Amino acid sequence: MNNEFETVIGLEVHVQLKTKSKIFCACSTEFACAPNTNICPICSAYPGVLPLFNKKVLELAVRTAVVLNCSVNDRIYFERKNYFYPDLPKAYQISQYKKPLGENGWLEISSGKKIGITRAHLEEDAGKLVHKQGYSLVDLNRTGIPLLEIVSEPDISDPQEAFDYLTYLKLILQYIEVSDCDMEKGFLRCDANISTRKKGEKQLGVKVELKNMNSFRGVRDALFYEEKRQREVLSSGGKIFQETRLWDVDKSKTIVMRTKEEAHDYRYFPEPDLLDFYVHNELIDAQLEFIPELPLSARSRLLGDYGLSEKDIDVLIANKSMLRFYEDVYNKADDKRKLTNWFLGPFLEQINNLPKGFSDVTISVDNFVKIVNYFCAGKINNVAAKKVLSESLTTDKDPDEIIKEKNLLQISGTNELECVVDRVISENSAAVGEYLNGADKAMQFLIGQVMKETKGKANPQVSRALIEEKIKK
Ligand SMILES: [Zn+2]
Repeated sequence: MNNEFETVIGLEVHVQLKTKSKIFCACSTEFACAPNTNICPICSAYPGVLPLFNKKVLELAVRTAVVLNCSVNDRIYFERKNYFYPDLPKAYQISQYKKPLGENGWLEISSGKKIGITRAHLEEDAGKLVHKQGYSLVDLNRTGIPLLEIVSEPDISDPQEAFDYLTYLKLILQYIEVSDCDMEKGFLRCDANISTRKKGEKQLGVKVELKNMNSFRGVRDALFYEEKRQREVLSSGGKIFQETRLWDVDKSKTIVMRTKEEAHDYRYFPEPDLLDFYVHNELIDAQLEFIPELPLSARSRLLGDYGLSEKDIDVLIANKSMLRFYEDVYNKADDKRKLTNWFLGPFLEQINNLPKGFSDVTISVDNFVKIVNYFCAGKINNVAAKKVLSESLTTDKDPDEIIKEKNLLQISGTNELECVVDRVISENSAAVGEYLNGADKAMQFLIGQVMKETKGKANPQVSRALIEEKIKK
């Protein structure tokens, strides 16, 4: 990479606020309903209808603005952003322009850098076009879905930093429960601005807007591509044009969508059908109650007390409820180190196989701790513990009951294991010979045979000791 240049990136994120009804009417916001079933005269833009502002939208937006350290304007109003598109029946979008809800905030990322937030403003979503062979269909279920647009300052200096910013922004929005942030469903969308300038220069380079990235990885890849492209053009004496480019994920390149000459002039003006809204301190204070410990604070706290690696912590803080569950079981477990190994190992492996991941988990703290404690005490072995966990994971069935029903108690008694071990040794003389000649793998095989004979219930350590004792005699 050519080092005489530096990259300047700003991000625009649209996040769908988690309300039951739309921003200016009572229609449902439910996802994936039959086309044009969640619509009414207001969101389908019949003449003469009047919008009515959903208070819940304001509450969630205020909560977000506060958490992003924005100053919240005490008086806000909406404006019409005028443009024509077939998915926008009003031919304007109700948005905020001159008086956004929040301004001048910042978001701290894991490196400790603070990325400035220029503004956070409310707007309504447009509908959706479904393109078919030779024609298109219009679905207005999405018109009027509440969105908060969060615009960052051009403070981001490389594509990885953009990725980190998006990761933390999403986590925070999930922690404060204002959005599910499901990108596949379009609940979170991101556009990026990127420019290149010579190192040390004050003035920003010509800005290119990137669209059509539908994952954070896509944003990062598109920015990497564009960063390289811009540096190559500038190094060879070329010029960067102000334009909008689309990320083509299949070809891994950006392509020109429109140039500056085609850029819109939206002719904003205040929405005459909605009054100004006052954001009182009581409303702001009430939202503070919904702000829990944020992911970065949890991260530094866990680094201190739990002896976890940074990688493990990032796995844990990626889900607020799962983090809470971890801390609860950790506090109750007898052997905390083994508990953590169990949590990050078999437990995560099993929840990764559930359709909705941790959301499907119903096992109680007590039952989870019971399984791990039984395992640590040698009451059940590793295989049995995994079986019990998998049965109790989404049912919260009592581990004692499962152990009894499936007869899973570990056999640790030398007397009980002796005759099985004798039989395994006499039936596998070849493996015994290999082990005596130094092949440790052969021992694993012999223990495996004991496990097989006892249907997985033998204590592997006791079995190993017994086999060694007998064949070295
Ligand atoms: Zn409606």
